[in-house]
Amino acid sequence: MPRLTFLGTGTSNGVPIIGCSCEVCRSEDPRDKRTRSSAFVEWGDRIYLIDTATELRAQALRSGLSRVDAVLMTHPHADHTGGFDDLRRFNELVQAWLPVWADPGTASLLRERYAYTFTETFPFFGGKPDLILNEIDGPIAPFEHEIVPITVMHGRLPITAYRFGSLAYVTDAKTIPAESMDQLRGVDTLVLNSLRSAPHPTHLSIEEALAVIAELQPRQAFLTHLSHEVSHDRESRSLPEGVTIAHDGLVVESPG
Ligand SMILES: [Zn+2]
Ligand SMILES: [Zn+2]
Ligand SMILES: [Zn+2]
Repeated sequence: MPRLTFLGTGTSNGVPIIGCSCEVCRSEDPRDKRTRSSAFVEWGDRIYLIDTATELRAQALRSGLSRVDAVLMTHPHADHTGGFDDLRRFNELVQAWLPVWADPGTASLLRERYAYTFTETFPFFGGKPDLILNEIDGPIAPFEHEIVPITVMHGRLPITAYRFGSLAYVTDAKTIPAESMDQLRGVDTLVLNSLRSAPHPTHLSIEEALAVIAELQPRQAFLTHLSHEVSHDRESRSLPEGVTIAHDGLVVESPG
């Protein structure tokens, strides 16, 4: 049974935003405090980390994440990759190289930005991340379960969503091609990004996300990658049944 923990549910600035005094940035509701979007999925005996958000260290400490078996990257934007160096602690914990999956464009940018992790050698684990970077080319099976990468469009940039059996994690989508919708059909639990009420050129709005959910009909859906325009309490009141605004630390389970 895949079980997902939201490490972070915020858009690229996080919430509160530096220097903003809006109602949500001043909110005392802990569900309105959002670090950059990331999650981990426990499935069988394995733990899959999705993205290395800027606050990875703080997120791992908060959620008690003390082991990672594989890392799945969605795309190269800084809010999803900024914690990449913190992967080295997971090498140190397990004393092994860590497999990472990314689409070819993301892999190439990771090699460029974090060149030291791929070129320097250290005689011990923990000095830098020690990674085996795999380029996605169809379904992946790091261990006993198959994980299906699914292409979604982040504006004009194709990026990667992931399906773990009955659970799918889709972040930073603006549109989902028809064949990708087909790959998402039948999910029980859908995590989907939705930035805010107003439209945005590269992210689904709440209304657009609800249209995707209405088409896919999952048993439960969770909205993530939220801006400071979304008050957890206020927006939760207008959502259809089965749709929940996610928050940092939330844990959800999907059958199968
Ligand atoms: Zn993002
Ligand atoms: Zn604000
Ligand atoms: Zn992005």
